[in-house]
Amino acid sequence: MSLQNVLKKVEDLRDEMVDFMVEMIKIKAVNPAFGGEGEEKRAEWLEEKLREICDDVKRYDAVDDKGIKRPNLIGIIYGENRDRTLWIIGHMDTVPEGDLSLWDYDPYDPVVKDGKIYGRGTLDDGQAIVTSYFAAKAILDLGLKPKINIGLVYVSDEEAGSKYGLNYLMDKDIFKKDDLVVIPDAGNEDGSFIEIAEKSAMWIKVVTLGKQTHASMPATGVNAHRVAMKYALWVDEYLHRKYDKKNELFSPPESTFEMTKKEANVGNINTIPGKDVFYFDFRILPEYDLDEILGDMRKIADIVEKEFNAKIELEIVSKSRAAPPTPMESEVVQKLIKAIKELRGIEPKAGGIGGGTVAAAFRAEGIPAVVWMTADDVEHQPNEFCRIKNLVEDAKVFAYLALT
Ligand SMILES: [Zn+2]
Repeated sequence: MSLQNVLKKVEDLRDEMVDFMVEMIKIKAVNPAFGGEGEEKRAEWLEEKLREICDDVKRYDAVDDKGIKRPNLIGIIYGENRDRTLWIIGHMDTVPEGDLSLWDYDPYDPVVKDGKIYGRGTLDDGQAIVTSYFAAKAILDLGLKPKINIGLVYVSDEEAGSKYGLNYLMDKDIFKKDDLVVIPDAGNEDGSFIEIAEKSAMWIKVVTLGKQTHASMPATGVNAHRVAMKYALWVDEYLHRKYDKKNELFSPPESTFEMTKKEANVGNINTIPGKDVFYFDFRILPEYDLDEILGDMRKIADIVEKEFNAKIELEIVSKSRAAPPTPMESEVVQKLIKAIKELRGIEPKAGGIGGGTVAAAFRAEGIPAVVWMTADDVEHQPNEFCRIKNLVEDAKVFAYLALT
């Protein structure tokens, strides 16, 4: 019965949730990596809010390379069992508003219209903060206690790699293997997708050096563009053939190997370029070894170098090894599936995505973590919005997780 009361309570808090979101978004918190002011002001406001409902509030301030304070907040509400915690993690920082002329509204003075709240950071990741906060508040307003602790974690720096945010907290002995971790920072429109895995990712810069010459006299040079194209296609074909496993956890289920960016070479058509630069973007199933793939690429480069009398340099721009997936049978996945089924009457699907997420830090530590929220695809875009309905319904899911 108490669960039903809490779900009803969450609905009653709808207007308060909207006001909370509007007030919070007015306090800009653009990540300093993009020239913003940072999270400090927003964190001060949120710290006050946490103190109103939490049994314990802690603040961990990192200081970044520009000397800017980067706060991280942890609010704990004690459960019947204090040995375990349901962590809900949201990030305070946002990306900049971008080209203002593309916005119909002031990105930092939110407008509520047609069931939506428009503003930079309303969805990404304001929704996580509002829904987790009000799930806890609904429980407390009714004088109830969660089964295990609720941990509200509002971090800095997610948009620029989490160095001063979640990663700063990871070695502080806060999160335990037995805890439940939910990160509402990505999701689909009906909330049916639960992210439990990610692929490894690698970006590689390929620099091919030949010898520049006049286009009418190719024999006097080495066409770096031709060599690079031969190399790219060979690598493309070889990797797709050798690393062809499928894992239905992911969409798409196979590894992807794409040549992407191409740097400009010569300025005129009648010159054979002596230098060529292009890039690969790989998203690789976790079962494969990244160094083996790099070894294959080097071997092919050696053969092509000899055949064309050119030089091929491979530079790793970035390389991230996928953490082991959160097991399907882990408690956090199963509880979330049950919550979504019962509250929404839909069949959730757990799976993997091609890009890295903050959940990886937990998975690497052996702590099962899921990324889940109900969201339209408007993150980082002009006219970013969150739906008020999703605020209410996602808060219900978190209340359910805390009470069952
Ligand atoms: Zn985000």
